[in-house]
Amino acid sequence: MRVIMQRSVSMMCVGGTALLLLSGCGGASKSSLSVDRSSSVVVIDAGHGGHDSGAVNSGKKEKDLVLQISQKIYKECKNQGYKVYLTRATDRFLTLPQRTQIADHKKADVFISVHANAIANASKFSTVEGLETYYLQQTRDARSQNIAARENASVLMGADELSKNVILDSVLSGPKIIESHKLAIDVQNNIMGHLDRKYKQVKNGSVRPAPFYVLVGASRPSVLIEVGYITNPKERERLHTSAYQKEIAKGVVAGVGRYIDNRKKEVGF
Ligand SMILES: [Zn+2]
Repeated sequence: MRVIMQRSVSMMCVGGTALLLLSGCGGASKSSLSVDRSSSVVVIDAGHGGHDSGAVNSGKKEKDLVLQISQKIYKECKNQGYKVYLTRATDRFLTLPQRTQIADHKKADVFISVHANAIANASKFSTVEGLETYYLQQTRDARSQNIAARENASVLMGADELSKNVILDSVLSGPKIIESHKLAIDVQNNIMGHLDRKYKQVKNGSVRPAPFYVLVGASRPSVLIEVGYITNPKERERLHTSAYQKEIAKGVVAGVGRYIDNRKKEVGF
């Protein structure tokens, strides 16, 4: 795993200047359908897979849920005209660098990692819920640290503290964080906006910083969405319906569109 970590760092450094890959065409129309999205590349990362089930509750596995949602995001991206890639389209395990290398290899404008949340304390299953979007940043918030630790466990197996800190320190500066934060805000706001039409009860868990390692290697704006808590009975049931998954997917892609449109304006397209 030490070798894998080192590869992540070098990959990040090589691509560190590759943020502005938005070869823009199309106008600034507010109608997403009238904008040419074909030059924008989206990479969707379905978390976990294979022997790594992620969180498990009541027989439901995070790896299966996030693959279903990622596939819907993929379809919606296609419908909107984006170039889009999935890190995995089947139930298979990918290492951390395998995931982020896909983003770099495909020259992704944005990298979206999809996960589902869980808590260990059964007495809080029915009260802890909500959808959250994370960007890579150190934080002192214990709750966010705990969530990141759970998600990081499988990808960091074997890495020592020094390796982890070297990796984090190397990316916690520069424009990637600012851009990832902007992307996270657009994604979270648009998901909640879409869900609010039919699912007013969904809790807005807001945008949060946390040290997710899957976001370290991708040298481009990257966010991780925790689509909800599979330990919460109501949320788990909702998350496993196709209609709800589609609304999340539409919101994600609307958020990506908003971010890319603003980015194009900033860089003068
Ligand atoms: Zn996860």
